[in-house]
Amino acid sequence: MRAIVEGLDLRRAKSLDDALHILRDDPRTPMAGNTDLYVALNFGTLVPRRFLDIRALSELREISLNGDVLVIGALTTYTSLIRSDVVGSRLPMLVEAARQVGGAQIQNRGTLGGNVANASPAGDSLPVLAAADATIVLRSAAAERRVPITQFYTGYRTTVMRPDELVVAIEVPPVEGRQWFRKVGTRAAQAISKIVVAAVRTSAPRIAFGSVAPTVVRVPETERALADGAGIDEAAQILSREIKPIDDIRSTAEYRLRVAANLLRRFWEETS
Ligand SMILES: Cc1cc2nc3c(=O)[nH]c(=O)nc-3n(C[C@H](O)[C@H](O)[C@H](O)COP(=O)(O)OP(=O)(O)OC[C@H]3O[C@@H](n4cnc5c(N)ncnc54)[C@H](O)[C@@H]3O)c2cc1C
Repeated sequence: MRAIVEGLDLRRAKSLDDALHILRDDPRTPMAGNTDLYVALNFGTLVPRRFLDIRALSELREISLNGDVLVIGALTTYTSLIRSDVVGSRLPMLVEAARQVGGAQIQNRGTLGGNVANASPAGDSLPVLAAADATIVLRSAAAERRVPITQFYTGYRTTVMRPDELVVAIEVPPVEGRQWFRKVGTRAAQAISKIVVAAVRTSAPRIAFGSVAPTVVRVPETERALADGAGIDEAAQILSREIKPIDDIRSTAEYRLRVAANLLRRFWEETS
């Protein structure tokens, strides 16, 4: 580990204000749990060499309710999500996703804000947040803004976040209806998904997939068909036209299409 961090220009923020002023005056890559960053550093795929350690910002570790909105601080780890009663009762599909991220070591270090900001289309929390209509709260030294997660990603691993901004929290409004999460990977632990889905069963179902497009996606045509009373076979056909997965090292487009349709059926059966 020491070899990886040697030669890096590293600053440590003492508070959120401190971090935001450093990002404004001396732009750097934020480091949270480092579970993605160290992998990239180790493989030599990370170009930036100037970093800002934000792990000491305890104000970003809180989970709270603001009225009826669940507010999850960006530095909340998967372990904290799993242990949180309020997350368990309000957003059980996020707890389910957190349980399936990496192994215990990754769950202890990896953060929800890191998963969001890392912008991998395979990030396990992202379909949950998309199906829950979550909002990403961004803050700079000058201002705070809120971006719906469906507008946060602009393409493969790109977001609307500016270099002087941090993800400070994720806000989740109340979710009515049964929540459902499923990840398909090579094995149960330590595997990045081949396909991941989160869904909410209401009169207007909300369904989001990861690993089927450059970003996490909602599937509005499939959702609309189900809301209008289409049968699950018809909805599965619509889904097959609506998503356009690719072949990559983890899976093939054909496999992903078939599994996506199977997962849609499973969601519908198990939440009926
Ligand atoms: C062995 C292993 C297994 C894994 N398994 C899974 C898995 O099953 N599912 C899954 O989804 N992921 C998995 N991951 C990926 C990783 O653990 C998660 O994406 C994790 O949530 C990243 O959080 P972090 O705090 O470690 O982010 P970091 O590595 O610290 O940062 C990741 C990126 O986000 C940026 N960033 C972090 N926090 C902020 C913030 N608050 N504001 C702005 N930018 C920020 C950083 O600059 C960096 O670009 C795995 C990783 C490893 C090494």
